[in-house]
Parts: sequence; structure tokens; C-alpha cells
Amino acid sequence: MEYQSTRDKKLRAGSAEAVLRGLAPDGGLYVARPPVDFDVHSVLRLDTLGMAEKILSALLPDFRDMGALVRRAYAGKFETEELTPLVPVGGRYVLELFRGPTSAFKDVALSMLPQLITAAREREGVTDEILILTATSGDTGKAALAGFCDVPGTKIIVFYPENGVSEVQKKQMISQAGANVRVCAVRGNFDDTQTGVKEIFAAGVKENCGVRLSSANSINIGRLAPQVVYYYKAYADLLKAGRVACGDKVDFVVPTGNFGDILAGYLAKRMGLPVGKLVCASNRNDVLTDFLRTGTYDRRRPFYKTISPSMDILVSSNLERLLWLLTENEDEVAGYMRSLTENGCYTVSDSLLSKLHAEFAYGCCDDAQTMETIGKVWKTEHYLMDTHTAVAWRVAEGYQTDTPVVVLSTASPYKFPTAVLSAVGGDTSGTEFDVMFRLNELTGVPVPPNLARLQKLPILHRDVIDREEMQAYVQRRMRQWDE
Ligand SMILES: *Cc1c(COP(=O)(O)O)cnc(C)c1O
Repeated sequence: MEYQSTRDKKLRAGSAEAVLRGLAPDGGLYVARPPVDFDVHSVLRLDTLGMAEKILSALLPDFRDMGALVRRAYAGKFETEELTPLVPVGGRYVLELFRGPTSAFKDVALSMLPQLITAAREREGVTDEILILTATSGDTGKAALAGFCDVPGTKIIVFYPENGVSEVQKKQMISQAGANVRVCAVRGNFDDTQTGVKEIFAAGVKENCGVRLSSANSINIGRLAPQVVYYYKAYADLLKAGRVACGDKVDFVVPTGNFGDILAGYLAKRMGLPVGKLVCASNRNDVLTDFLRTGTYDRRRPFYKTISPSMDILVSSNLERLLWLLTENEDEVAGYMRSLTENGCYTVSDSLLSKLHAEFAYGCCDDAQTMETIGKVWKTEHYLMDTHTAVAWRVAEGYQTDTPVVVLSTASPYKFPTAVLSAVGGDTSGTEFDVMFRLNELTGVPVPPNLARLQKLPILHRDVIDREEMQAYVQRRMRQWDE
């Protein structure tokens, strides 16, 4: 299976090269037509790691011994060996994607990506060390740090906005151990931090300095492919529970930001999994709802900060991959993307819109509805969900179907304790750690071990710099890593 840019079919790459490069040279994303001869039925009988091995081998055929990479990525690192448990809640199912080492859904992909990058580096004969640079507004930073921690041949620097992440998220990052990791606060907001990282990538590093820059961003196919696995896992659990017979369709409702999670569901379907509709759930930033309804993607709109911050996004980069997968026409996709850059919007063809409507449903809700949903589901079902999951649940409630529905849950409620405690009627005074423990007292839902021990961990990273210093900081770190 060969990958190519979504914008130019001449820009080809094998799966290992695509993982190493991240983005195609023309700014497009690497895509390939999914395998059609995939043996769904035998894969559904495997355990989660077995499924991961088969699915990742099919999508990334360059990698030998995928079984060993999968075990190194996941074995013993998640709360349960099945990685992503499926929990029945009030007639639907919640697929818990947050049982990983940092209690974020990003753990599923960011545990695997470092293994793929190091294996790709060996396969491609790259001797340079890989330096991962990441700007984070919260969850990605910690999940990337945990994934790359002490992975040979890699180093990672995470920048975060000094006052732009929650207390728990900050403590998660600045307590990160590992000889190859650095964490640095930037005076400014997330946009400043992200712009700084983009400038460092644009400037590049000196040739022959023994380092190659890479990103842990969700546009990398090495981050997308591992996410296909949990759709299969969820379906296998429904089979085991006797809730579906082989071949019956299942609908998935996905809390969406950058469109990576839901696109993985579409890849699962193209590989043969009986997926019915994929329901794209958004918060008040409803650019995708409008797009899926009308066929016009228009980013020229206000940006709202919501209580589901990982879905606060105006440009969902992985959508470009879907446009290619539905058209296989790189000129058409390149045209849409050019229009997005130049005009801030594009409108897809009628035939593409009807293909979108055949595969996807959509919906959105605001913060008040999100809070109300958390409170109501706790009261009636005794299930505690985080703000992102609640957006998806709310959209699922408004979606009519006779098919079994799986709602993807992307964060532990303890990652967003203030909103969640307030939604279930608790007192949110004090620090975020106070709130976390009070939420536990009120509900009895266990705090994930990594978060429970966090408050007492020593602080290992104290660097704080101005945005203009970021590039110099990276240069200095590369010269004197252990300082
Ligand atoms: C990243 C994230 C999302 C959005 O996932 P995409 O793949 O970007 O659509 C949703 N919820 C949480 C908690 C996340 O961290």
C-alpha cells in the first residue's frame, strides 16, 4: 500500500516514509485507499493487541514485527489489558478511550506513534536523532511526553502557554520524568506558542547536525492508524455480548475536533467493519455541523472557548483526508484547500455532499446543554462523563436510529473536574486538586491512579521563556541537553 499527498498524486511515499515525514512536501496529508481484502471476521476474534497488530500491519505494511511494536506501546501501560472498555449506559454504549497512562484519549495514538517513528527511522536508514517539537493547549503535551519518554533515538520538547492550561494539565507535564524530555512554559497564549513552533519547523535545523525535526501532531498517519483499532474492539465486544450478530450495523457518535477520531471510524468501515452512520458531534464551535449539513466549510466565524476545549477548533485538518477518500481526486481536494486558505471557505460538489450524507450524521450542543447532560446521566444512569463525552451523548440523544449506538468517550471526568463537579451539583471552591478529590467523595467514582498521585510528584521542569526565545531555546537544548 503506497501513500500519496491528498493534493498531488505524484508525491508518493511508503508507509514508513510517511510516518517519518508527517506532512507531505506540498502541505497535503498522506493518504491511501484502505485495503479491501481485510479479513474482518478473523480479526474480530482476537484480543485487543492482536487486533492492533493485524489492523496496523494492513494500514502500514512497511513495518515488520508489528506485534512487538504493539506490545512495547501498550502492554502493561493501560488500566486494563483490553485498553478501551465498552460500558453499557442507558440503552447505548460508552467506549472509554481514556484508560491510558495520562487519562486522555490521545494516549491510544501517542503510545504507538513513538514505536512507529523509531521503527521507521531504522527502516529508512536514518541515523539522525528525531526531535519531537509540540505546542500543546492541554492533553496532547502530556500524552506525547509519556509516549516518547526514554524511547531510544528520540527527544521531545513540549511548549505550553504559561497560563493557558489547567492546573492538573500543567502538573502532569512539569512532573514528567525521562532523560530525553523537556517541558517549557511560554509567556503568551496557545496561538503564540503554536506559532513559535511552526516558525521553528519553517526555519528547520542546520543540516548534518544529527537531528531531524518531527511532530506528534494528529496529521501523521502514525497517529491515525492506531485509532482504527478501537472501532473493531467495540464491535467485537457487542458481538460477544450478543447485542449484534456478525454483519449487523453499529452507529458511532464521536466528539470531534481535528476529525482524526471520526476519520479512523471511516477507515474501519472502508476496511469492512459493519459501521452504519458516523455521527460527528461538535460543541458551540459548530463549523463541522454546518459543513456536513450544507456542503460549505466556512471558517470565518467567531471562535468560542468552551468547557470542552479539545473540540474548540475552526479548521479540522483531517477532514482533508476524508475529502480525498470520497473523491480520490487530488485536484479537486487541492482546489478546496486553496479556497480555504485564500477565502476562508469552500463548497464541495453536489456529488461529494451526497456521499458525505450517506456516511455521516451530525449535531452540536452548547455549554449549558453539556452541563445539563452530565448532571442528568449521573442522576439517571449513575455514569459520570467528562464534558467532551457529554457533547457526544447529547448529540446521540437527538439522533434517531434503531441501530445499536456507541458513544466515544475521550477524557476522564477527572481531567475536567471543575465543570463536572459543578454539573453534578458539588462545591467547586479551592484548587483543582481539591475539586478532583471532592468529585471523588461525592460520586465514589475512582480517580485514575496517574491523577491521584499527581499532586505529590516533584516538579522537574521550571523553564519559562518569551515567545521570541523559543528557537534559541531549542538550539541551546540540542547543544546541552542535560543542563
Ligand atoms: C483530541 C480530543 C478530541 C477530538 O479528537 P479529534 O481526533 O481531534 O477529532 C475530543 N476530546 C478530547 C478529550 C480530546 O483530547
